[in-house]
Amino acid sequence: MSSVKPNAHPDAPVHQGSHSNVPHPPPEDHPHINPTVKKPIPDTGWRGEPPVPSSKGGTYEQDFMHKPPYEWKSEGELFKAKYTSQCWCGNVSFEFHGDPLDAKHCHCRQCQRLHGAPFQWAVIFPKTSVRMIKNKDSSLHFFSTENLTGAHSVPCKVSCNVCRSPLFDEGRNTVLAYPSSFKFPDYKVPLDFQPTAHIFYSQR
Ligand SMILES: [Zn+2]
Ligand SMILES: [Zn+2]
Repeated sequence: MSSVKPNAHPDAPVHQGSHSNVPHPPPEDHPHINPTVKKPIPDTGWRGEPPVPSSKGGTYEQDFMHKPPYEWKSEGELFKAKYTSQCWCGNVSFEFHGDPLDAKHCHCRQCQRLHGAPFQWAVIFPKTSVRMIKNKDSSLHFFSTENLTGAHSVPCKVSCNVCRSPLFDEGRNTVLAYPSSFKFPDYKVPLDFQPTAHIFYSQR
């Protein structure tokens, strides 16, 4: 874990952020068409089909609970967990390979209401860099902001049905995970989790 750098806010060097409106979900959810994503998508050993589950959105994906970002097998053990997250009660837990592609604060009204917070802090991982390692009593819960249902309809919000902690948003290609649910070494937030952008800033 020596590569994890402490976030010494406010004196740490900061990334150049853009205080402007950008699309929601963010462009990082379309890494194949969005040239602004700088970091490569690592090979974590997912050899199943499709390469990115639920990438077309909606409810069509069969057996999604046994594909990324849920319970799945990494061929060759290429998946190396660098971080873990869990809900408040501990029933649901995930692990993450490598560092996030990007990080953002979203100030939109939807995030304010769904999180009960002034803004949402999210880090973006490829779906194949995320794996569920615990789902005690089937506590995993989905909420579709498009259909207003609890079905797994992508994009959807993922939380624990017991303690109600938000865990991440499953997008079409990426997972927008909430660092507040992560367990960091020494409780210090790595610089890779520092937001590079504030979106929907005008709604704050
Ligand atoms: Zn919980
Ligand atoms: Zn938002």
